[in-house]
Amino acid sequence: MVTDQETPDSRPPLPGADLHIHLRGGMTVEKAVARQCATGLQIGVLKNLGRGWPIETDDQLAAFLDSVSGHPVFAGVQVNDRDWFIKRSAELLGRLDFVLADTMIMAMPDNDSTPVKLWMPELYSIPDPEAWMERYMTHNLRILAEPISILANPTYLPPAVAEHYETLWTDARMEQVIQAALDSQVALEIQARSQYPSDHFIRMAKSMGAVFSFGSNNFHDNPIDMSRCVSAVETFSLTPGDLYVPARPLLT
Ligand SMILES: [Zn+2]
Repeated sequence: MVTDQETPDSRPPLPGADLHIHLRGGMTVEKAVARQCATGLQIGVLKNLGRGWPIETDDQLAAFLDSVSGHPVFAGVQVNDRDWFIKRSAELLGRLDFVLADTMIMAMPDNDSTPVKLWMPELYSIPDPEAWMERYMTHNLRILAEPISILANPTYLPPAVAEHYETLWTDARMEQVIQAALDSQVALEIQARSQYPSDHFIRMAKSMGAVFSFGSNNFHDNPIDMSRCVSAVETFSLTPGDLYVPARPLLT
């Protein structure tokens, strides 16, 4: 197990960045900076933005940006609504270093329905997995067309159909998602706490020229086991050129 409590000199610094550190559950910018020192990964902190989430207004977005400004971390948001880029101030959005999105909130049972959290299976059912997957692909491609920087948890499947990963995520579908990410210059996340995406997807994405980011996706301020991200660097021979880091240089 590799955690962010290990000392910096216990292993060489890693290329890339952990760009999925939520300021929630006791996690603060200061604690995130300490994590940066421990893991050797550059870091980005974020809050969720959307209706019913911590950032719902431009004032809240400005306050978040001001609170992070001056710290040696990247500042981002995780967007949960599909109209975020027209709802929030362009000037404020322009101050963000990155925007992260996942595909885990989707209209169910059809496109005209209210979006639901797919990780809460009691809220919906998927009677026809293949038909749902076609809609889910459209959902994925729509999100990849938004002005985002990172697709978090790529190829996520909800619990009801997770066992059908091999069948639902055909190579053709994976290739379509990866190509859309390439076309929009969106990085693909390898998350510390998720089984997604599969090794097969990562290999395919790397061969197509995609770039990757890391994500701890914390719910608290306890140490996170970063083994999956660390081993990915070795397993997939990831070099700095394969890893996404926001453009703005951090303060020294
Ligand atoms: Zn998150």
